[in-house]
Amino acid sequence: MNNQYAKLSDPNDPFSQQLDQYGFPMDPPTLISSDITKGNASTEFPITAVNEIDDERLPVGYVYVAVNVDPDKIYTKDDETGCNCQGQCEKETCACIKMSQIELDENGHVINSPNLVDHFYDWAIFECSGICKCAGKCKHRMTPEKFNLRVQLFKTEKAGFGCRALQYIQQGTFICEFTGELLSYKEAKVRPNDYPYYVTSMGSENEEQIGHYVDPTTYGNISRFFNHSCSENLAPIRFFSTHRSPTRPHIGFVAIKDIILYEELTINYGKIWWRDKVERFPNMYCQCGAPNCMWPPPGTKKRTREEKLLEMNRKALLSYKASLERTEGRVIDGPKEFGELWTSCFPPVIDKS
Ligand SMILES: [Zn+2]
Ligand SMILES: [Zn+2]
Ligand SMILES: [Zn+2]
Repeated sequence: MNNQYAKLSDPNDPFSQQLDQYGFPMDPPTLISSDITKGNASTEFPITAVNEIDDERLPVGYVYVAVNVDPDKIYTKDDETGCNCQGQCEKETCACIKMSQIELDENGHVINSPNLVDHFYDWAIFECSGICKCAGKCKHRMTPEKFNLRVQLFKTEKAGFGCRALQYIQQGTFICEFTGELLSYKEAKVRPNDYPYYVTSMGSENEEQIGHYVDPTTYGNISRFFNHSCSENLAPIRFFSTHRSPTRPHIGFVAIKDIILYEELTINYGKIWWRDKVERFPNMYCQCGAPNCMWPPPGTKKRTREEKLLEMNRKALLSYKASLERTEGRVIDGPKEFGELWTSCFPPVIDKS
């Protein structure tokens, strides 16, 4: 028997009883990790991992971190001015509350959290913390000391590993920070990564104003496993806690719906990410299964793998011809941007239509 597993099934713990009621504990063979954080991260509960689908083992190749890794010292401690409130922070007088567009209720939950979706670039919260006179002990605080939700890594049927709730999570609850390696714009551009999140200055969605990227490829927490859904239940949020420098907000996720036991935690990867994938990968369409699924967009025909390959080959050929013209025939390689695709489709299939 696994000790961590036994800990989760404590008969005196009301949560364990709730799990038992819904079919937990599962067969031990499906458990592939008793704690994916391996004690590296500051979490209240172990984050277990299960695979009830196939034989795939635990995803490896990254280090679990609770806070960002910052080799280039992107975060500096140059602005640490909190509020000056004595006792409870109040709307009328607290500098932190006044600076925040996002409001919290008595329990530290985001009020009107579904609105976060449309206001990622112009809203933020400056929560109270150790830099304030109130020391962050007031009610204007959203992030817990430690990650305090019961969640689990699990193998999904169609989208690799994902994260699901092992408890009810109320709408407005802060889930966790999106942690990773902080990269400068320059560094991020040369890395072939798929999931970095860019962080612009406050009030800007202009690419040129990107302060840095958060890249979860090599370092990250549970949020690096959040899958896409066109009907997502989490939204990204910008927050400031122990520093107030406008170019360096933290990114986190907040529940925009009530989430029930065993429901997958999902985010929306956005149009840019999907357009790119649908264009470039012959087998790729959204698998979220939501009635409002956008990829392929409603009204457009879902292309077959063959149709997509033909279209990609046509583009590769055009690009190759253009580079031959530019260099007067001196180019002998295929166009670089098509990489393996070019090799795989040589000689190119010519679209006769
Ligand atoms: Zn205050
Ligand atoms: Zn404060
Ligand atoms: Zn406060």
